[in-house]
Order: sequence, then C-alpha cells, then structure tokens
Amino acid sequence: MKRLIEGFEQFRNDVFPAQRDLFKKLASGQSPSTMFITCADSRVMPEMMFSTQPGELFVYRNIGNIVPPYAQHVSGVVAAIEYAVKVLKVRHIVICGHSDCGAMKALQHPELVQDMPSVAAWMKHADVARYVVQQNGPGLQGLAGLRSLTEENVVGQLENLRTLPAVAAALASGQLSIHGWVYDIEHAELKAFDAPQGRFVQIEPGKGHVPEATPHARFSMPAASAA
Ligand SMILES: [Zn+2]
Repeated sequence: MKRLIEGFEQFRNDVFPAQRDLFKKLASGQSPSTMFITCADSRVMPEMMFSTQPGELFVYRNIGNIVPPYAQHVSGVVAAIEYAVKVLKVRHIVICGHSDCGAMKALQHPELVQDMPSVAAWMKHADVARYVVQQNGPGLQGLAGLRSLTEENVVGQLENLRTLPAVAAALASGQLSIHGWVYDIEHAELKAFDAPQGRFVQIEPGKGHVPEATPHARFSMPAASAA
C-alpha cells in the first residue's frame, strides 16, 4: 500500500499541476473516442502504450479480454460496451490480447484452473479459440499454440461483440468500427486482425493504414436532426 500512496503523492505533485485545466474540464464529463477491451494482466497498460491522456480511452479489462455473447450471460463487460456505444458514442472498439497471457495458457492446460470454478466457467467463453486451433491450427501446445490461441481468441471475441444489439446497430449504420489486436510485451509490437485477409498483420506506425475487422455498413447514418 505504501508504494501506491507514494505514487499518488508523486502524481499530485509532478503530473497534476501541469494538467490542471484538463482535469478541470474532465471533472464534469467524458467523451472518449475509443473503447479498449483488454486483459487484466498487470503488464498491459493501455494508457502507457498509446500515450493517451485521461478522457481519451474507455478501458475495460478482464481475464482473457473476453466478451460473452449477448443473451447468454449479463456481464460487466457487456454492460460497459452498451454504455460506451449508446451514451458515449465511441467510434471504435478495440479487443486487444497479449503475449504470454495466463488465460490463454489455461486453454492449453485446463488443469491449471480446475480449482478455480469461477475462472474455469469464465474461460468457457474462450473455448471457441481452443476448438479452432485444435481443428485447424498448429496444435494447442508450445509457443506457436499460444500465439495461435491468443489470435483466435481475439477473433472469437470480435464475433461475440457483434452479437450485442447496440454494437450490431452501430456497425450496420457505419457509426462504429471494430478492431482486433495482439500486443507483444517483450518487443513492443502490435498486430491487427485484417478481416479481408483473414490474418493478423503487423501495425506499422507511420504507414497510415490500420487493418480493421469492421463489416460493411448497410444503412446510411441517421440524420443528425429531423428539424
Ligand atoms: Zn492475459
């Protein structure tokens, strides 16, 4: 605890004074452009990775960056997504997995979570990755298996994301885009799922184009006002 209290003191003394105006503005509301769903893993720090300011990223973290499908399970993450799309009107949702993920290792070795019934039940939402890799991929084990599970879990959670009515409606009207990424902790690299290519490709800052997993919009944007 001492470490946290000292850290807060450092924030108040060294960081806050220079950004007093920003915090004053944020005290009465937020309008983040992006919802970022990632793993609870302590090594994944979205605000540090993307050099973002307070108010820019609506971050939701859980074990395995999982989004349970609609109507199967009312969960915190599903409620947060609905709020982000309907109220905050975020333009992007990113689901980001990461290297060396403990949750993905539990897919390789289910015995690791057999004494944790809640974790084991939660990980059922990632079973799709295990099946896809087992049937089509390099096999579940080893580093290749772990990489493949991590990517397929992101793809599976993107599918689940699209089952949420608020997300489906925003995608159909072109107001929202969705992205599936994997972060490599050791090398500070990001890969993005390129849906048309059906594979993950390296994001290269400065190259402009960032691959997307967004389906084509089928309706035009609703008019801003009927008046
Ligand atoms: Zn993880």
